[in-house]
Amino acid sequence: MDQEIEKVKVLIIGSGPAGYTAAIYASRAGLSPVLYTGGQPGGQLTITNDVENYPGYPDGVMGPQMMEDFRKQAERFGTQVRYGLATAVDFDSSPKKVTIDDQKVIEAETVIISTGASAKWLGIESEERLNGKGVSACAVCDGFFFRGQEVAIVGAGDTACEEASYLSNICSKVYMLVRRDEMRASQIMQKRVLSNPKIEILWNTETDEILGEEEVNGVRVYNNKTGEKREIAISGFFVAIGHQPNTEIFKDYLHMDAAGYLKTIPGTTKTNIEGVFACGDAQDNVYRQAVTAAGTGCMAALDAERFLAELESA
Ligand code: NDP
Repeated sequence: MDQEIEKVKVLIIGSGPAGYTAAIYASRAGLSPVLYTGGQPGGQLTITNDVENYPGYPDGVMGPQMMEDFRKQAERFGTQVRYGLATAVDFDSSPKKVTIDDQKVIEAETVIISTGASAKWLGIESEERLNGKGVSACAVCDGFFFRGQEVAIVGAGDTACEEASYLSNICSKVYMLVRRDEMRASQIMQKRVLSNPKIEILWNTETDEILGEEEVNGVRVYNNKTGEKREIAISGFFVAIGHQPNTEIFKDYLHMDAAGYLKTIPGTTKTNIEGVFACGDAQDNVYRQAVTAAGTGCMAALDAERFLAELESA
């Protein structure tokens, strides 16, 4: 089958705060960007509840609403927002080639990567088998299904604390499975879970297996200090152990760190390949905030604009 080819000046891959901000800047600069949303249009903020730390929203804003606003603002200036997933790239050629949904090939003079990051999983068999049947990586999306029931959440970072607190408002009890004898989360978040009577923290505790045939009905955990095993009856099992950058398709071309975060030249969004820029969580394992992602999205659009101007004047 012949592949359909389209040429664009600026191709943006990903639709979180970084991608949409790059789109706003690139479209206002008259570069007619095309943005592919990826598999989760709007990105991680669409599975968040209230966003209270994004400047300009004194009363907070719901994550999905904020991303809807970002999209509208990008479209207002002429960004073409399309549903589709970048499935392969060829950055050896110029223009760069990006394949969408294994079918359509886009030839782009510049590519802005804003593919973000996705939730990590424990990697045990029962977790995969029961995914969507009581196993979830998003308390805000799925907590509602466990109203009045007992659930467990694994993780000890800010996300796990935030989600445990969220679940405690809906569920009758939340077991928090923490693999060490301390938490990684910020003091304020720890305090919140430690003082919450509906949250029971099980220290030095790891997951052996999630129990249930058709749906989750329990979890078998073990204490990694004593080796003691224990089964707990629960109907929901939440995983909140961090994120993995969505950069797999770039690994043959772009420099990345051991965890897969793209490397950029400090102070810029330039990658090791000319004309390819990276912004947002795909290249940031430190700050990972909506506002910092948006900031680097702006930088990527300005870097792409300068690159194109230099190409044209060469
Ligand atoms: P983190 O990487 O900070 O924490 C991951 C947690 O999961 C750690 O406690 C880690 O344990 C645990 N973990 C990892 N793998 C496993 C495993 N296989 N089994 C059991 N436990 C495991 O990720 P977060 O998503 O929590 O946070 C990411 C970033 O986002 C942080 O910088 C955080 O501050 C920020 N954030 C801020 C929020 C806010 O300010 N409102 C809300 C949410 C996130 P261990 O400590 O033992 O390694």
